[in-house]
Order: sequence, then structure tokens, then C-alpha cells
Amino acid sequence: MAGTGKFFVGGNWKCNGTKESITKLVSDLNSAKLEADVDVVVAPPFVYIEQVKNTLTDRIEISAQNSWVGKGGAFTGEISADQLNDIGCKWVILGHSERRHVIGEDDQFIGKKAAYALSQGLGVMACIGEKLEEREAGKTFDVCYQQLKAFAGKFLDAVPSWDNVVIAYEPVWAIGTGKVATPVQAQEVHVAVRDWLRKNVSAEVASKTRIIYGGSVNGGNSAELAKQEDIDGFLVGGASLKGPEFATIINSSA
Ligand code: PGA
Repeated sequence: MAGTGKFFVGGNWKCNGTKESITKLVSDLNSAKLEADVDVVVAPPFVYIEQVKNTLTDRIEISAQNSWVGKGGAFTGEISADQLNDIGCKWVILGHSERRHVIGEDDQFIGKKAAYALSQGLGVMACIGEKLEEREAGKTFDVCYQQLKAFAGKFLDAVPSWDNVVIAYEPVWAIGTGKVATPVQAQEVHVAVRDWLRKNVSAEVASKTRIIYGGSVNGGNSAELAKQEDIDGFLVGGASLKGPEFATIINSSA
């Protein structure tokens, strides 16, 4: 890894789980042997955050999968970053491709959400990534730069430092498809992201910020991906629902 922070592994449980299945997953995670030098975060659905918080080892931090664009109030169905803070949630995933492309959130809205979450002291996993047709049209870097720019533009207003930001590169064609990016494909985009940060934010932010990969990461491919110089961790969907496999992924940088 090239980022100077610790290896970072997030588990995005998406809209999955029941009280019962989550009890089992938490118990598997509590008994797993995890490398000390890795930051680990899991993102349960909102309604299970409290259950997970009360039962999961403190070794693993908790993230939300979304947050509202500003302070709470008359916004039916939304959850504000202030409330996440209040219940001890440390992170939030923003800009995930399912929120961009299934639910229709745009770059500006996502950037605003991220800035607000940072201003409330949450860490942000800021997701970017191209669709298959964009990759095939040779637009991968342009799409990622545009999404980065929307985050970065808003971050400048919100925080003096990027310490609480992790960038997740998640090509849309790799998410939930079983079609993982090759280590070379992922590394190529991670280098481009780091260069973009160097040119548009600062050399310090470029060297410190963790850039993690997501999209069909599993216990069989994570070690190879983790060897790439600029892959500083993972954001894992499906495989994070299986405790032992998620532990393998967490330990894959060792
Ligand atoms: P996946 O999802 O690991 O199931 O492909 C990754 C993500 O959406 O963060």
C-alpha cells in the first residue's frame, strides 16, 4: 500500500440481514482473529446499528450506509449525521453506486452530504467509479475525476483536513457481479486518483489518503489485490456478510 495510513477494510452489509443472521455474523466477527494493523469498519442497515453496537467488539467501528445532506428536521425517512454521531456511529458511506444509479443521487448532492458528515466529525468513505459503458468508451478516468472533484470541492468548505476521508474506487461493473477488476486495472485507477489528489488538493493529502478498492472482493482474490502499491484496503459487499471470509479479507495485507 502507498497511503501512509493503516490498511482499511469496510464491510457494506447493504439492505441485508435479520436480527438472527446479524447475531450470528457479529458472533463470527467477535471470535475471528484479526490483524492488529488494519482499520475495520462495518456498515449494517440503520435499524440494526444499535444491535451491532451493543454486541460487536470495539475492535471494529460502525458505519452508516447513508446520511442526510444537513441538519435533521422535517425530512421524512432521512437520518442526519448529527444523529449518527449521537449513537456512536463513526463513519458513513457516501456516493455508493447504488445510491447514484439506482436511487438517482447526483455529484453535487453527494458532495454536500459528505461535507456535512465531515463537519459533524464522521469519517466518510467517499465512493467513486465508472459504469461499464463508460469504461468501454475510454472515460474511466474522466468519470472518476468528475466525481472526485464534486467531493473535493465541497470538502474544502467543510474541513481543514482530509484525515477522516477514505476514497473507495468501486467500478460499477464489478459491484455484486462476481467480475472483480484485475489487480492491474484497479491499481491503474488508484494511481490516477492519487495523482489527481496531488495536483488538485495537495501532495500531503495524496500521500496520506487511503484509496480502497470495492467490487466483488472475496477471500480468494483479496491477497492479490492487496499486493498492489496503491490499494490501501477494500470496501466489501457480499463477502462481508460471511464472518470467516470477511476476516480473511481483513487479514489479506499481512
Ligand atoms: P460487492 O459490493 O463486494 O458485493 O461487489 C461492493 C460494494 O458495493 O461496496
